[in-house]
This record gives sequence, C-alpha cells and structure tokens, in this order.
Amino acid sequence: MFGEGCFVVRALYMDDSYCGEFDAVVVGVADGKYVVLDRTAFYPGGGGQPHDTGVLVRGGEEFPVVSVGKFSGEITHEVGVPGLKEGDVVRGVVDWDRRYKLMRAHTASHVVSAVFHDDLGCRITGNQLSEGRIRIDFDLVEFDRGLLQRAIDKANAFLSEGLAVSVSYLPREEALQDPSLVKLAGALPPVVDELRIVTIGPLGGPVDRQADGGTHVRNTVEVGRLELFKAENKGKHNRRVYVLLSG
Ligand SMILES: [Zn+2]
Repeated sequence: MFGEGCFVVRALYMDDSYCGEFDAVVVGVADGKYVVLDRTAFYPGGGGQPHDTGVLVRGGEEFPVVSVGKFSGEITHEVGVPGLKEGDVVRGVVDWDRRYKLMRAHTASHVVSAVFHDDLGCRITGNQLSEGRIRIDFDLVEFDRGLLQRAIDKANAFLSEGLAVSVSYLPREEALQDPSLVKLAGALPPVVDELRIVTIGPLGGPVDRQADGGTHVRNTVEVGRLELFKAENKGKHNRRVYVLLSG
C-alpha cells in the first residue's frame, strides 16, 4: 500500500529491494543529524512498513541511522552521531536482518489481504507490519475464527506455491482506470506521473496486484508459514487480526 510521498524520488529500494549496501554522497545535513544522500536504499517508512535502520560509514567512522523519514520529498536519515557534512562520501548499510523480516511481512500482508478481500469480501482498512508479525484491520459482518483460519490456510497454500513477486510501473492515467489497484480503503494514489505496481503471481492471473511503494521478497516461498495468532472485534464490523510469520 502507499507510503506517503514514496514515489517522488525513485530510491534504490524501489527497483531492488535486495540492495542492502550502497555508496552515496551527502548532499545535505540539517541540525547536524538529518542527512540527505544523493541515493539511498534506506526505506523511509510508509504503507504500514516501518522505516529501516542501519549505519552510514565514512572512512572508519560509523554514524548509526536511527530513523528514516521523508520530509519535503527528500528521504532523510537521522543519525545518532553528528559529524557528517555535505560532500562526504559514505557507504550505507541497511540492518538487513530487520529489513528482510519486514519484506517477508509485507509480501505476506498482501497475500492475506487478497484472500480476505476475494474470499471473505472484506474491505481492508489498515495494516501494520513488524518483524515477524502483521496486523490487518478490515470490516466483516460475520466474525468467525474458523472462517479466518481457512483464509490463513489458503494464504499459506499460495505462499508455498513459490509465486514470483514483480515490480512494474504504469502511467498514472492508466493505473487510475483500474480501481482494483488501490486496495486500502480510502487511500489515494500519490500525485505522480507513474505508479509503482507490485504483482504477486502470474501477470495473467495474479493473487494480488496493487499500487505500492514498499519492499517485497522476490518469491513467496521466502515468506515462510503464517499462523493466525489473535483475532479481535474492534467495533460493529471492525475486525483486527494478528498473524505471525515463522522463521
Ligand atoms: Zn503494501
């Protein structure tokens, strides 16, 4: 799902989610700790996927990246140690263990949401990813744990098929003609000429296809198995499930 402003700059993670290390030049520093690079693989957060953490290395010096966000269209790295300045050449290293877990969770959330939507007729109203866990909010009149368990079983069956996950781009006008590309209820596509589309499964008959700015695994087998952990009633028709990822 959309991350705010994630389409303004085509960052390295947009086309290569597996880029965990890169060289870059510092193009701006504010307040000694907010660093903008000419290129970055750090995900700034959005669409339910938390920002990356990691380190920027200049020579032998390390500057931990404690937070990443998007401000005025720029991906900004907050470093825990001041000292970087404009023109510095740095190597960026993303905390790969954390990021990879979030990639697996992101792809899992799309597959689960697709099954909820297609089989249960739910509207997805929100999601939040963390390492090893996804939370999905949706509306559903009937609230039956057996129904939810069967949906998770089906999601597991899709994941174990080893479906390819691919990224492509569509002109905005073309994308807007297909309302199914915007899955999150109430979400609006960002104002850009081109939308990034993430497809899970064969292009001719995908399990899920939606405009999305997040990072995903290449193949659904990387996700592992899902386990329905908790299901909650949050209101008249508002439901929330927590799903755990094994491994
Ligand atoms: Zn997404």
